[in-house]
Amino acid sequence: MDVENRHVKKTSRLLDHSAVAQTPVPITEPCASCGVRCCNRFAVPITGFDVLRIIAATGKKTPEFAQLALAVNIESAPHTHVFIFENGKMEERLLTLHRLKNNFCAFSLHSAGCSIWGHHPLVCRTYPFVVDAKGNLKMTKNLVCPRKWEKNEFDEKKMKELGEQMNEEIFEYNKIVRKWNATRAKVGSEEDFFKFLNKESKEWMEKRE
Ligand code: SF4
Ligand code: SF4
Repeated sequence: MDVENRHVKKTSRLLDHSAVAQTPVPITEPCASCGVRCCNRFAVPITGFDVLRIIAATGKKTPEFAQLALAVNIESAPHTHVFIFENGKMEERLLTLHRLKNNFCAFSLHSAGCSIWGHHPLVCRTYPFVVDAKGNLKMTKNLVCPRKWEKNEFDEKKMKELGEQMNEEIFEYNKIVRKWNATRAKVGSEEDFFKFLNKESKEWMEKRE
């Protein structure tokens, strides 16, 4: 697939929340000139529900786009750390998208946007906003976004809905990880965790529908 035919809308991260961007649109300001910082500064923490959506959209297997990264190298995230058994010892990890050596997310098309636009993780869809414990939409703390988004530049209602969905999914994901940590951490590998995660996440999504 060439770049022109990918879903490359980027500014639309705040303007277009449709499931799939129908028409390729080049990145416009302000995202065009910021160097897509939000795609190259942070490891992208994800949940099992993000994983299922990406699998459905791309046909890839979990290890092709996700990893259990060393948690010590990653800024704080509300996602519960995963314990796995590797090289004869317990390791503490965080589920993230793959990153390249230049720090970019592996799905990044740099100034051309995101190759899984429309299926990208909820944390990417809502950035730089979060919904706090009181239900208020606010800018995230670990802010690399240089933009002060004005209210007329994004759909506040939709952003709040997405932030609430993200909070709900992280809550459920954390429950799944705690279940894994309590029952399988001492014997389970990354591969085992991915299988467990996909099964548990599918079950929860089916119940929610
Ligand atoms: S999934 Fe897409 S939007 Fe999210 S960090 Fe990667 S390239 Fe950026
Ligand atoms: S950091 Fe802000 S301005 Fe830059 S691409 Fe992300 S949302 Fe757009």
